[in-house]
Amino acid sequence: MESFAPGVTHEVSNQVPLLTGYNLFSSDPALVAALEREGAGWHRAALLRDGAALTEPDVLALADLANRHTPELFTHNPRGERIDALEFHPAWHTLIEQLRGAGVHALPFSDPQPGAMVARCAAYLLHAQLESGSLCPVTMTFASIPVLQREPTLFATLRDKLYARTHDPRDVPLARKQSAMVGMGMTEKQGGSDVRSNRTRAVAANGNAAGRGGEYRLLGHKWFFSAPQCDAHLVLARTDDVEGVSCFFVPRFTPDGNKNAVRVQRLKNKLGNRSNASSEVEFFDAYGVMIGDEGRGVPTIIEMANYTRLDCALGSAGLMRAALVQAIHHARHRSAFGRLLAEQPLMRNVLADLALESEAATVLTLRLARAFEDTAGAAEERAWRRLITPAAKYWICKRALEFTGEAMEVWGGNGYVEEGPMARFYREAPVNSIWEGSGNVMCLDVLRALEREPEAAQALLGAWRAVAAGHAPLAVALDRLLAMLGGPAEQREASARRIAQQLVLLAQAVLLLQHAPPLVADAFIATRLADGSGDNGRVYGTLPASIDHAALVERAFAG
Ligand SMILES: Cc1cc2nc3c(=O)[nH]c(=O)nc-3n(C[C@H](O)[C@H](O)[C@H](O)COP(=O)(O)OP(=O)(O)OC[C@H]3O[C@@H](n4cnc5c(N)ncnc54)[C@H](O)[C@@H]3O)c2cc1C
Repeated sequence: MESFAPGVTHEVSNQVPLLTGYNLFSSDPALVAALEREGAGWHRAALLRDGAALTEPDVLALADLANRHTPELFTHNPRGERIDALEFHPAWHTLIEQLRGAGVHALPFSDPQPGAMVARCAAYLLHAQLESGSLCPVTMTFASIPVLQREPTLFATLRDKLYARTHDPRDVPLARKQSAMVGMGMTEKQGGSDVRSNRTRAVAANGNAAGRGGEYRLLGHKWFFSAPQCDAHLVLARTDDVEGVSCFFVPRFTPDGNKNAVRVQRLKNKLGNRSNASSEVEFFDAYGVMIGDEGRGVPTIIEMANYTRLDCALGSAGLMRAALVQAIHHARHRSAFGRLLAEQPLMRNVLADLALESEAATVLTLRLARAFEDTAGAAEERAWRRLITPAAKYWICKRALEFTGEAMEVWGGNGYVEEGPMARFYREAPVNSIWEGSGNVMCLDVLRALEREPEAAQALLGAWRAVAAGHAPLAVALDRLLAMLGGPAEQREASARRIAQQLVLLAQAVLLLQHAPPLVADAFIATRLADGSGDNGRVYGTLPASIDHAALVERAFAG
């Protein structure tokens, strides 16, 4: 019988050491290869540096701190004056500083060169493995830049502050700040997906119709308004003069230096993304400048949304990668029934299936990133951007939901408690699927893209046909998709999820076939696309026993 010192009841054993000190970049072979392939090999050294820094214990602790000590809203100062101020834990500011330092908020615009978008998205994938809430305002800032660039006079005042690699958290007028953050406000109580239902009104400040570049007063509300501490938001509101909604640049401070009348009513009490403040606001004759043409607010802000949707897919791909690595690490250190979990055949199947899903998400998102570099571009690139972005946003964000739950279960009970990262990953997963266009809305957008860009879609499908020529299961899957697309129009809307799903699976299969080892590509196609792949069940961990599970896990994370 074991004997213990007085007061000691047991020896702690078979608990898994904290995973720190590995390199997020170099330990991910799919990401390393994709970076080179998609034209951003020049960013390798920076990613290697960040990849190591982001797994230091004190950096990992930032994510936990920022989510435990959530932002607080102070609507009034002690004298009862309105201030609408937010207070964050210092860890939050460090996270934002790191993101800006890595150029995640601006790199392709501030340092344009071939591969810059891919480089930035690879950096995003690394940071998404650390903390999700801080990505929100950084994504919105990034996505606002191409929209603001179209307003040269305004942009001239913002350019250096938007591009700055530093974070200036001070709640002071923009003129006094080193750097700027920008958010977006579209969603109102009566409808978020259908922004045409927006009722917030904008009236020309001088009483005359002002139009693009003119000053307005906004009266109304936004039901969801993330990062209200940002230096400005792009806000949709309706003028009396035209039918459609218009887009406005609404700064936190007015030109005379007073806080703009954007009243933060309360903060949302959220399931996840807790480090990030999401609020409800009301505009009490708030100051705003019209950007884009009057009545063209939706197309103006949709340009921003295309970038944010790419980031949702990247964020979920990063979340999956983080959860996968944690799951593999755990299984390699935890024993049950006399053997390490990683050596148990059924657990190896679960991990291998997760590894396939994660690799497919990584290669797809970096390929998509390249398509965003070619903004005029070839038809095929346009199809990647216009068609595959909403499809990928839909599919990858959805896959992350089940993925993070499964990875959490690999940790057993320890996965469910808040002391490790798994519960946070799980709570983070749903939001990427909901915001910036929820699942159905994305799938309907895929149909819209197919209708509006038939030549681009044909170019992409033609390129896939060439790859499928040498691969029978892929050719069959492609035929199945074409049959769905050619079906009766009235059935297409009801089938939009199936269409989006098949598009993404084909895109992923083609990329894996071209660029991953046959082990990965064959297993992916056999279990996701091929005839009979439905036999593989509806949960992770149902790969056929004939696939080399151990090799898939080893490839995903050698440790
Ligand atoms: C944490 C968080 C932060 C957010 N931050 C912001 C922000 O900063 N700025 C901002 O503007 N918004 C923000 N949002 C709002 C978010 O973008 C919306 O919630 C989202 O777009 C969905 O809109 P809704 O909530 O009005 O749902 P609805 O529009 O009511 O949609 C409900 C459901 O119906 C589905 N649906 C809608 N139309 C159709 C259709 N034609 N056919 C089939 N199904 C359909 C949708 O896919 C969805 O599943 C945030 C949301 C969250 C959760």
